[in-house]
Amino acid sequence: MGRLVKALKLKDELKKELGKDPQAIKDWHAKREPRDCGITVHPGIGCDLGCIYCYIADMGFPTDKVEPYPLTGKQLAVALLHNPNVTPGPTGTYVAVGSVTEPFHPLLLDKTFDYLEWLKRLGNYAQLSYKMIFPERRLNEFVEKSDPNLSVLISITSIKKAKILEPKLPPPEMRLELGEKILKKGKGVALFVRPIIPGITDIEAGMILEMALSYNIKDVVLGGLRVTKRILENLRNVGAKLEGRLKRYPRGREQVYVNTWDIRKNMERIANNLGMRVLYTACDANARHHDEVCWDSCIFNRELCDELPPIDELDLREGVELLGGELISFKVKEPVITLETRGLRRNAGWIIQMAYRRQVIIRQGKRVWKYT
Ligand code: SF4
Repeated sequence: MGRLVKALKLKDELKKELGKDPQAIKDWHAKREPRDCGITVHPGIGCDLGCIYCYIADMGFPTDKVEPYPLTGKQLAVALLHNPNVTPGPTGTYVAVGSVTEPFHPLLLDKTFDYLEWLKRLGNYAQLSYKMIFPERRLNEFVEKSDPNLSVLISITSIKKAKILEPKLPPPEMRLELGEKILKKGKGVALFVRPIIPGITDIEAGMILEMALSYNIKDVVLGGLRVTKRILENLRNVGAKLEGRLKRYPRGREQVYVNTWDIRKNMERIANNLGMRVLYTACDANARHHDEVCWDSCIFNRELCDELPPIDELDLREGVELLGGELISFKVKEPVITLETRGLRRNAGWIIQMAYRRQVIIRQGKRVWKYT
């Protein structure tokens, strides 16, 4: 069975097996679109850890308290199975846990473990990024309950200014210590340098990478930085140098991208000299920790395009039919597949995109849909 049909059939089987649940089907996890390479799962609402670069306050989430997300693990699985943009299984949608909260926050740990256990049952390739740590006595439980190749990212932005930037978080050494223990248990683990704060992270680049390496963390993902007006002021007050790096001054809660390209390139060079493997995005890390590549890997390193999964025309045709449409034609220019179809709904593209780990463009009549 081809990759697309496999994901769609598994979705039907699991939906029947787990049944319906009104609360799950109404939940946002049953509706929202993935980001360009995966669906985000939130084990909590809000975060009270107070990192000064955090933008959840500007997104409207509480910062004076944190609460476990109201769905149980099983309900989360049902919600994802009813999401028309998502499919389960190893050829299904990548999942990222913990983007707008801290998954290892003590008040969320049980919920995070419950979610990881159900995600493992769905079989999607999952990733989790953390800054908080959990007690060693729960390590085996974490290892057993989660995806065997779970991609684990240890977020670090600074060593010297960690206490100022992240006042309630454990120091980077303790995060790396946990990361090394997780690595020894067989998961994929990478240092996630994020946010990259000009004037702070760049000055410590070598130190951060060497420290990660001393804990046997050999993969590194280089993140970026977005700022709102509030975050910009916070960062300036602690020595960030952002002049000339923003397209415009942010208005209110608007998030403005900060150009850190030169810093990333320099960190890449240092990491390569240290013998580390640079992964270009969090999605790239999820792919590689599951022994595959995705379009993010291929965009940054064209040689990796050859490792993308082969496209099976029959599978594509049958899959499009199962999704309610008809495939007229398709063409591939790595890492993009452009399909001409009839009768498809827009969300089918998210599913095809993940099945073939390539970016998808759908042309239908006069409409053109892209998934980024
Ligand atoms: S731990 Fe994450 S979600 Fe919590 S305040 Fe820090 S950056 Fe924000």
